[in-house]
Amino acid sequence: MTVASLNQEFSDWLVQLRREFHRFPEPAYKEFKTAETICRELKRLDVPFEKGVGGTGIVARLQAVNSGLLIAYRADMDALHLEEANDVAYRSQNTGYMHACGHDGHMTIALGILRRLKDTGWHANGAGEILFIFQPAEEGGAGARAMLDSGFFDDKPVKAVFAGHLYPELPVGQFGIAENICNAAADLFAIRLTGKGGHGAHPHQCKDPIIAGAHLVVQFQNLISREIDPLASAVVTIGQFHAGTAANIIPETAVLNGTLRTLQPDMRERLIARIRDMVTGTAKSFDVEGSFEIKDGYPALINDPKLVAHAIKTTTEVFGGDATRIERPRMGSEDFSFFCQQWGGFMIGIGCHNPHEGFQYGLHSSHFNFDENALVAAVLLFENLLKRYLDGGNGKSLAE
Ligand SMILES: [Zn+2]
Ligand SMILES: [Zn+2]
Repeated sequence: MTVASLNQEFSDWLVQLRREFHRFPEPAYKEFKTAETICRELKRLDVPFEKGVGGTGIVARLQAVNSGLLIAYRADMDALHLEEANDVAYRSQNTGYMHACGHDGHMTIALGILRRLKDTGWHANGAGEILFIFQPAEEGGAGARAMLDSGFFDDKPVKAVFAGHLYPELPVGQFGIAENICNAAADLFAIRLTGKGGHGAHPHQCKDPIIAGAHLVVQFQNLISREIDPLASAVVTIGQFHAGTAANIIPETAVLNGTLRTLQPDMRERLIARIRDMVTGTAKSFDVEGSFEIKDGYPALINDPKLVAHAIKTTTEVFGGDATRIERPRMGSEDFSFFCQQWGGFMIGIGCHNPHEGFQYGLHSSHFNFDENALVAAVLLFENLLKRYLDGGNGKSLAE
């Protein structure tokens, strides 16, 4: 497998830009300097844009001379609360923050695609229009939802939306794509059990919420092992169980916080209903009060199979038969799902693993870093995916 290349000046520009983003990581909805850098590059590329969409979001607009379809490409902007462990010249300058999910790369790739489309004169010959969406707050802040809720896209009939995510599990030069379900839905829930506190030596005078909570944690394990198809996947994790202040006191309350990960909407609904049932039933059987609250997280990210076929065909034609890998769904979540729900689209994994150069750590690791050759490969891939989608290589759109 060979990694595609563009001229040296272009590659150097990509690397420099990525390192600039990397040095100044900013958290959700505070991507101010990041947004400034994006705007600076958009001005240099002479591409019109709107800023302040859904907070710190930016939407750039590249229009071709001929009328045609409207599509979108999305890159996320935010960094993680994490101290960088890498000792590199472009190490994070913002203490406690790090681009450990590759979003520095994603923004660079988006700008790279824009520049390639301009350099190759697509806008002067092609048909259609592409919105480049720079989205804040992917890491838990639902920035995609905020951008959609801003109303900016209400009068824009986007036909399909594309995105890439660096995948350190894949070698640089390779791309991974899930044929349908790409990422799980993630919801957070909180359970509160209220009993009657008292002396640990007099349990008969109390109502013990810890016993009820312990039973609940065990019961939830049966949801996965006994109530869903063994070939399907879901996760129920109780990550927090808070109760009590001393060994000889039965506390008044116990609080359990958990996360639910599912791949299909109907399974999500069913498991939420069953968790609620279990809280009510278990609370009743232990004679305590139980409350259950769920906070909707990100929906599952579903790739549109028709678009996936286009992606696989293009990847194979541009990079050869061994460049594409069909990926299994991932239990992590991704708020690009909001855009896909709205318009239909897909996310492609961009291989960036290269242990010979020390790039072998996973996303969200304080050691995460990636082979920057992945930037050029991704730019070339998406340049082709977008162009071919809009003109189908022969003037006929693939969307028809
Ligand atoms: Zn992440
Ligand atoms: Zn990410």
